[in-house]
Amino acid sequence: MLPTDEAEAIVSLAREVAAGELSPRVDDYEASHRFPRQVFATLGQLGLLAMPFPEEWGGSGLSYEVYLQALEEIAAAWASVGVGVSVHVMSCWPLATFGTEEQKARWLPDMLGGSLLGGYCLSEADAGSDPNAMRTRARRDGDVYRVTGAKAWVTHGGEADFYTLFARTSDDISRGISCFLAPGQAPGLETQPPERKMGMTASTTATLTFDGVELDADRLIGREGDGLAIALQALDSGRLGIAAVAVGLAQRCLEVAVAYAKERQTFGRPIIEHQGLGFVLADMAAAVESARAITLEAARRRDRGLPFSRQSSIAKLLATDAAMKVSTDAVQVLGGAGYTQDFPVERMMREAKVTQIFEGTNQIQRLVIARHLARG
Ligand SMILES: Cc1cc2nc3c(=O)[nH]c(=O)nc-3n(C[C@H](O)[C@H](O)[C@H](O)COP(=O)(O)OP(=O)(O)OC[C@H]3O[C@@H](n4cnc5c(N)ncnc54)[C@H](O)[C@@H]3O)c2cc1C
Repeated sequence: MLPTDEAEAIVSLAREVAAGELSPRVDDYEASHRFPRQVFATLGQLGLLAMPFPEEWGGSGLSYEVYLQALEEIAAAWASVGVGVSVHVMSCWPLATFGTEEQKARWLPDMLGGSLLGGYCLSEADAGSDPNAMRTRARRDGDVYRVTGAKAWVTHGGEADFYTLFARTSDDISRGISCFLAPGQAPGLETQPPERKMGMTASTTATLTFDGVELDADRLIGREGDGLAIALQALDSGRLGIAAVAVGLAQRCLEVAVAYAKERQTFGRPIIEHQGLGFVLADMAAAVESARAITLEAARRRDRGLPFSRQSSIAKLLATDAAMKVSTDAVQVLGGAGYTQDFPVERMMREAKVTQIFEGTNQIQRLVIARHLARG
């Protein structure tokens, strides 16, 4: 249920774009492992790349509740693009939230207006679940910081126009990390060959190496030492985006499975009429609807300004586990056909897997939830 006519219009627009621009391209780009830069330009022009930011700075001024429903439509058509939108939004959030008015005026309109694409550089090869183990250094030298190190697993690595970068500015255990806005092209910044992944092959993931990359001191976002807190808060919101992507994936798998089960006949009747199979579909529907409900409830808490970190981790955990289960069951419902590339469910099953891993594995979500319980 959408709150306003305007919200209805933006979700309809996302649905139209998904049908007209995304669905026709997904198979070709995923099969050839190509990054669809032009698709992101189109989304940017239509205002679908920076939905939950103030209009004053070039965003669409949407609540998270509405943004996530539009994102679900995009991800149902093409999960790699859904993840890309979510990562871009997360990359813009630190500047939009912690930037000075001057920093925002300088960079934010282009970042939100759709002409620039963002990346989020937190993880390193030996600092994934534990970002505080990061080693990339930013050393202050007069009016600049010089950055040396390597950030791993960067979605849009080598394709992005800017990176929200986290680097160590001191060895302090709680305030040793700072947040920067780095340009996509800078002397000393290099992209390593992209990862060869199980799924989401149209979403480029690469390591970036920094060899004395010079950043003007005014590219520091927030105060020196605020970086870890900024990164974790950004992830609270980012995880809602991943939950919405997972819901979109699961919804599409359910639709494909139900359509197939109505057509396919065994023992003289459509397989949906065999109770053993009908119950599988019923469980899939229950999983999709409950994942969507829990995700939107967390979003509404965020929109009301209430604490939502625990709810965001619960949504990410439940929605991505649901996507994994529902996509695996969809393959089963289609039988042999489900295991072929003639249907999208095998691809979506591979794509669902990574939603349980990135932006904090589902073990880390449990850790976050348990810490909230212990504190609460
Ligand atoms: C396709 C893809 C895109 C990504 N995009 C980005 C991006 O744009 N930006 C970015 O910064 N990062 C990105 N990542 C990195 C991602 O967030 C990390 O892979 C993830 O956080 C896990 O880190 P790790 O791979 O180092 O696993 P590890 O931290 O080595 O974990 C290995 C296993 O141990 C478990 N584990 C670890 N610690 C604990 C614990 N305390 N208790 C219980 N279990 C534990 C984990 O759950 C996991 O199962 C991406 C990853 C992938 C695969």
